[in-house]
Amino acid sequence: MMKKAIKKVSNLLGQPQEHIRHHITQPDDSDISFYRNSIHKFDGSLIAMARDHVSRFLIVFSERQGGVITRFTGEQIGDVGIHARLCPLDATNAAVLRELFFWTTPVSLKKQKTTIGCGDRLGLASAGHIAAIKHFDGVKPVLAQQSMRELKLTNRTYRQVVDDAVFQVFQVGYEGGYGADGDHLKTIPDIDLALESGMPMITLDLSDVMRADAAKWGAGEIEKEFATFPEAERSRLLANYAGKEFSIAKSPAVKFSKAAVMRCAVMYHKAMDFAAEVNSFLKQRRGEDYDLEISIDETTVPTLPEDHVFIINELHHRKVKPSSIAPRFIGEFQKGIDYIGDNEKFSSQFAIHCAIAATYGGYKISVHSGSDKFAVFPAIGSLTKGHVHLKTAGTSWLESLRMLAEEEHILFKVIYKRALIGFNEATKLYHVKTNLSMAPDIDKLYEDDYPKLLNRDDVRQILHITYGTILNDHSIRPMFFSAMHKHEEYYHELVMAHFEKHLSALKLTRRA
Ligand code: ZN
Repeated sequence: MMKKAIKKVSNLLGQPQEHIRHHITQPDDSDISFYRNSIHKFDGSLIAMARDHVSRFLIVFSERQGGVITRFTGEQIGDVGIHARLCPLDATNAAVLRELFFWTTPVSLKKQKTTIGCGDRLGLASAGHIAAIKHFDGVKPVLAQQSMRELKLTNRTYRQVVDDAVFQVFQVGYEGGYGADGDHLKTIPDIDLALESGMPMITLDLSDVMRADAAKWGAGEIEKEFATFPEAERSRLLANYAGKEFSIAKSPAVKFSKAAVMRCAVMYHKAMDFAAEVNSFLKQRRGEDYDLEISIDETTVPTLPEDHVFIINELHHRKVKPSSIAPRFIGEFQKGIDYIGDNEKFSSQFAIHCAIAATYGGYKISVHSGSDKFAVFPAIGSLTKGHVHLKTAGTSWLESLRMLAEEEHILFKVIYKRALIGFNEATKLYHVKTNLSMAPDIDKLYEDDYPKLLNRDDVRQILHITYGTILNDHSIRPMFFSAMHKHEEYYHELVMAHFEKHLSALKLTRRA
């Protein structure tokens, strides 16, 4: 039996794209519905995304035999005489979409003023991110963004992460351009995986090659370690920095003592060499078309102004021009909850980091674990004047759980209990302030109160870091994804509202 909706589209094939989009929104008793903005005509074919009560898929129609329809893998549908194919959302079909519609391919966002990392662990949230971002001027989303840790815990590959973004972008017909970030990568083989999958942005995590512990060493220890550097390098470093003043726009100059030069060298010199190696690898693979973020945030010591000045100067010395740098800020940026620390101290040090970035090439300051930091968003927004990269990840996952807490009480309760069991294991990978004794007993709560759990810091952190345990539980996984499919639209609305809150707090300009 031919589905009504498919019949209707095939009857409209000869009409212009807008006409088809307009008519397809009419209520229909068919159990297939098309995503209106995904309807695209291409060389005698019509390509669109649709869903039924089980899944999403592509449907490709063709007025004639052959042509672009043959490039999609899928099964022939409909009556004899109609050329239509129902195609799964797989790697082959994502690749065809990327080729036919250039705007579904991730691009470098180096030249964009404000960029928002929208880590989407489920591959289902981008439509909500896009809807929010479209309401603000000069903002571009990094829709695909995962760390190796997240890939492992969600059992995804970089190719799948990018493909999920491709399908979401096509589904809503977003042609504004988006980024893809291989996040917190530490080795060239891992970077290679991200590049192979078409990710133009690499966040290079230097925590394994820098010596953060040297920040706490005594003068003797530093001197001893510095003495092991090659002589020419020692003289260059001392001549370039010791006793020198580095002037910074609208801020006091940064001046290096001999001890500070040696400390910075011990902490960062090897890391800078590695950054240079990674940079030439990126150049070799992508020409100039890449975004390199230098991340030194995964450490316990805040990045001092002199550290930042040293790092950017040493990068330039090695001909590395980062698109963004993620320092470690004062205070705590924990997962899923607001900033912990002294707002004023944060602002005054953040201002210096912004000034250094503005003085040395105008790269972006990147704020990691940047979701839900409402206490410092106004400062971040005004001090950067929107020239910033804000990275978020688990907060969109938490919105999916908020949706379940509202709509699917039994499933939410099962997930909540599973999270409590997996919590201690998860804390080996994620640092949070919460412990299990703080978690409310869900059996004592009314179902209507479940959504309130998502407003508590302790519960947010527990659910934030246990996504691996939850998604890999085979009794939960199928129910989880079928509920996500059922409530797709509402999930996108929640994500959109949550991101609009972020973008407004950053004082970004709302589109008229
Ligand atoms: Zn980070």
